Amino acid sequence: MAETQQSNTYKGTAVVPGIAYAKAVWITPRPELPTSGPVTAEESRPAEFERFVAAADTVAERLEARGKSAHGAASEVLTATAGLVRDRGWRKTVRKNINSGHPAEYAVVAATTKFISMFEAAGGVMAERTTDLRDIRDRVIAELRGEAEPGLPAVDEPVVLFADDLSPADTAALDTNLFIALVTELGGPTSHTAIIARQLNVPCIVAVGAGATEVTAGTPVMVDGSLGTIVTHPDEAEATAAVASWEEMARRVAEWRGPAQTADGHRVQLLANVQDGKAARTAAATQAEGIGLFRTELCFLTATEEPTVEAQADVYCKVFEAFPESKVVVRSLDAGSDKPVAFASLADEMNPALGVRGLRIARGNEGLLHRQLDAIALAAEKSGRGDHAPTWVMAPMVATAREAKWFSGLCKERGLVAGAMIEVPAAALMADKIMPHLDFVSIGTNDLTQYTMAADRLSPQLAYLTDPWQPAVLRLIEHTCQIGAKTNTAVGVCGEAAADPLLACVLTGLGVNSLSAASTAIAGVGAKLSQVTFDDCRQAALAAIDAAGARAAKEAVRALLADA
Ligand code: PEP
Ligand code: MG
Repeated sequence: MAETQQSNTYKGTAVVPGIAYAKAVWITPRPELPTSGPVTAEESRPAEFERFVAAADTVAERLEARGKSAHGAASEVLTATAGLVRDRGWRKTVRKNINSGHPAEYAVVAATTKFISMFEAAGGVMAERTTDLRDIRDRVIAELRGEAEPGLPAVDEPVVLFADDLSPADTAALDTNLFIALVTELGGPTSHTAIIARQLNVPCIVAVGAGATEVTAGTPVMVDGSLGTIVTHPDEAEATAAVASWEEMARRVAEWRGPAQTADGHRVQLLANVQDGKAARTAAATQAEGIGLFRTELCFLTATEEPTVEAQADVYCKVFEAFPESKVVVRSLDAGSDKPVAFASLADEMNPALGVRGLRIARGNEGLLHRQLDAIALAAEKSGRGDHAPTWVMAPMVATAREAKWFSGLCKERGLVAGAMIEVPAAALMADKIMPHLDFVSIGTNDLTQYTMAADRLSPQLAYLTDPWQPAVLRLIEHTCQIGAKTNTAVGVCGEAAADPLLACVLTGLGVNSLSAASTAIAGVGAKLSQVTFDDCRQAALAAIDAAGARAAKEAVRALLADA
């Protein structure tokens, strides 16, 4: 009798959704790095440098050639990686190391280590580029030694590719008919692996940690790129069924055409979140019916001085142009906390998320808000917007009825439709006093969750709390929708919650009229809504509200809507 293998589950950061079931393979190992080596005689050092240059040039040429035959982000990544191999600063450091007597292999290691420290010290996006540096180091060392290029193994059947960290060059060269899912020990959601996996649309999980190394080559695994889980030795029938149901779902998403409505015809407006004209044009190519959140502060993160009214209007016009016949909701500057805007003169605060951010900045600098509203009104006028293409404006971080009344007055003076974000729990609780001043509200579930759960939305340790499935958050949304219905005020959701198809059903059941999400999420949400009835949504909402916690809420809703 065949022995049943023990099944284990590993978890990482979910990057690209999708379910795959196949055997694991590991990437061809990187070369052993030399620690140092015999000192090169002085007269041989120029030749040693020439040896390095020849190896580096070969690696760069190979990457450039692959870059030429690839497309889009993959091509850009390959060309950028080749650029690193040709980088004069890096080559100069290698030459310096060779000139002090190190063999070329060690000179490459030492030079790269120096650059990695510099990139790590810079942090953020730069720190994630250290994978690219390690990659070029390993390729050049393998070339210097005459060894095979490290990277993808040759396979002849579909596999799940495991790696410590995939180099951009490896990821860009992937044949997705064979490498049907990617799992990495390291990396982050904005690493190159993640960027290209998104472009290739292959299920991908990163940052699994050392546990990933327990999965040996040849082990059958099921990868769920939505949940971020890898299950070894899954039940074959269950895994095959999960893949089939994912494929069916993907087919429905691809075939879905708006406008969004439930199976029994309950309409929900599906809108897009954007930060500039380019994102708005991308959104216009989806089934989005308009823009539900234009994050204006993101246009000005690098501006050192406040743009003039005319210059701001030009920026806003670019977004309006993408949706000349549809609703666009512009949010006034939400500077502060994790979005520093130099000209908003933010103070150094101990707790910036609880400090002078969003609308609160305008209390000390009212002119800034006046000029922005003037610019929005000017852009709307220049773009010929009117009743056919309404311009809605909302303020972030509204906490009191007085703030809502004040903001609304400023909008009305300029002929703009006035609204507020509901993202401070006080605003949800005081909705009956706030809404009479406004034409609409839009619930920012990202901040509403952070403030309701008293948990920093940027903290990875508190991710279990900063989950919009938290029933406490859903109860505040329910209350807001009830007041919205009573006062005839439109209630939308523009936080990340609107991008989760299951949660979108719950929000619909709670009474939300519009959902605004990243362009990439729109078809998934629309397709899901088309498979459920409004009553299903109501039942899902009741179950979620009644659950004891976020996980229980999600499980209850999944069970209710699984067949839909
Ligand atoms: C929110 O808080 O949910 C929101 C949409 O705004 P931001 O994420 O920009 O703070
Ligand atoms: Mg917010």
